[in-house]
Amino acid sequence: MIFDLDANASYAPSEHLREVISDAWALVGNPSSLHTRGQRARAAVEDARVAVRQLVGASPRDHVVFTSGATEGNNTVVASAFSSSAGAIVTSAIEHPCILQPVAMAAARGRPVVYVTPRASGEVCAGDVVEALPTDTSLVSVMAANNETGVKNNIERIAVSVRERAPKALLHTDAAQLLGKEAVSFAALNVDCMTLSGHKCGALPGVGAIVIREGVELTPLLLGGPQEGKLRAGTENILGIISFACAARECIESLSQRAENMAHIRDRFEALLTSTVPGCTIHGLNADRLPNTSSVAFEGIRGDDLVVALDLAGVLVSSGAACSSGKPDPSHVLAAMGLSEEVVRSTVRFSFRGDYDVALADTIAGVVAGAVERMRTSLAFGG
Ligand code: PLP
Repeated sequence: MIFDLDANASYAPSEHLREVISDAWALVGNPSSLHTRGQRARAAVEDARVAVRQLVGASPRDHVVFTSGATEGNNTVVASAFSSSAGAIVTSAIEHPCILQPVAMAAARGRPVVYVTPRASGEVCAGDVVEALPTDTSLVSVMAANNETGVKNNIERIAVSVRERAPKALLHTDAAQLLGKEAVSFAALNVDCMTLSGHKCGALPGVGAIVIREGVELTPLLLGGPQEGKLRAGTENILGIISFACAARECIESLSQRAENMAHIRDRFEALLTSTVPGCTIHGLNADRLPNTSSVAFEGIRGDDLVVALDLAGVLVSSGAACSSGKPDPSHVLAAMGLSEEVVRSTVRFSFRGDYDVALADTIAGVVAGAVERMRTSLAFGG
């Protein structure tokens, strides 16, 4: 049996989605075509917009702009703020690279940029964001939950403080990892725009959205067509968008059960690990975390080696490292939390799906404990 504990990388689509996609095959084409098939595809896109709005508690007046994923969404927001005003960009040191790299590009072009450091718990605190705010700020972008540690940031509180101090700043959150793990309310978050990723909540990879509050204007990144209210040119990814609608409705229907299951299995897994495996530390343990994520350092072991060992044992996980050009870089997230390079390199991320029975925690913890013990024994004998 394969245990998929890598839901934060991509949440496995349901069997129902496979059927929905098969039925939707007939709609593949251009939703801008005037003929019947085009009109049916257009109706499916509009239906998906309603489903995504419902999933994130947005009002019918807020815009949902479909993109190719959260990477495009985040790039769009940063580029829009960069091109529409000269103010500083404020973000956190633990954002996904699809925020950090466009922001670094803005800095290279002379834009003042402030990176807020998280506390040791992994949380980016409202007080620290406000303290760092230059008077002239064009964008504040802080993620809702971190993909590596699962630690959540209090976006509502950040929004209140930012609106007081820098009312003209565009306020954005990357909510890619919140979707499908807990209820999201765009209205309550009180941001101007929010980025979503379909495959983090059970849709196909290659689709996402930016939710934009009524009255907020973004400059498009992609030009050359009137699609998505002129905010994102290019023929829509019809199957991806239909899959997003399906995943959104599945989330709406089963979210509380899903989140409860995630929390049960994750908590039992962590309790078993800490009681049976010496030298393991859970990052952000006492912070407000997503219910499914566990980021664990195993003393004396390389996280990448453990990922490979667990893969051979049928357990799919990730190390806390972004892999670029085949060479894993140590996690910038854990480093920003003040952890040593040794601890960072010994970390593995377990991210649970919502449909596993809690009893599986015992099996999975047993497999992990066995792999860690074998690796430590082999290292002790110079292996
Ligand atoms: N933002 C966060 C927090 C993520 O975890 C990811 C993917 O891992 C992304 C953005 C990028 O999402 P996508 O794969 O939809 O481009």
